[in-house]
Amino acid sequence: MRTLGLLGGMSWESTAVYYRLLNQGVARRLGGLHSAPLRIASVDFAPVAQWQSDGQWAAAAQHLGALGSGLWRAGAQGLVLATNTMHKVADAIEAAAGLPLLHIADATGAAIRAAGLTQVGLLGTRFTMEDDSILIDRLRQRSGVEVLVPPAADRAKVHATIYDELCRGVVSDASRQVFLGVIDRLAARGAQGVILGCTEISLLLDPEKHPFPLFDSTGLHAAAAVGWMLEEPSHPERKPS
Ligand code: GLU
Repeated sequence: MRTLGLLGGMSWESTAVYYRLLNQGVARRLGGLHSAPLRIASVDFAPVAQWQSDGQWAAAAQHLGALGSGLWRAGAQGLVLATNTMHKVADAIEAAAGLPLLHIADATGAAIRAAGLTQVGLLGTRFTMEDDSILIDRLRQRSGVEVLVPPAADRAKVHATIYDELCRGVVSDASRQVFLGVIDRLAARGAQGVILGCTEISLLLDPEKHPFPLFDSTGLHAAAAVGWMLEEPSHPERKPS
């Protein structure tokens, strides 16, 4: 198996989910006592979140790139960035680490296309919903998927729930109802499905139990990483630039 570098802590609530899914995925495929060969770097999220809100993306990229480089030195052969938002600086992190990065948009886009869909809604942080360079452009260019984002008032509610609740381990029925309302409004505008484009949203909504197609970026990203660890040739992979 290939050894995967997991760059997480953004937030640790979803990194814990990645850790479980990666190990379960490998155990399911190989059986017995097999588990995932991982190197993990987990940040203190507070300064990263501050850099995000201050627009200091270069500082965040430098910090995460240095940690990615450490993962390479520790023996990682590929990199998973366990957050959608910080894919804003994925190229810089990949270059600093010198490791191929398994992009969350590619894993998500492949699943949407496999489901035969071409237009989906997107829930995530306001950065992910409002900055096309994070996911939206790549989904269009590499997977042929068009993205609808919620209106401003809904974006604000989703963003606040992510940082004030989900990243702190708070999961409430009230917020679940808010998210379901946002999803209904996206569907009414023509979304054929909705991307859970923040790695904590699956704490609130279980795609398996929802009648409408929900594409959980965390689960899809982890599944793609398991495929990569097991060296499945079909997995999309980029080489470091
Ligand atoms: N984990 C979230 C995401 O997937 C939000 C926290 C962050 O900004 O990193 O975007």
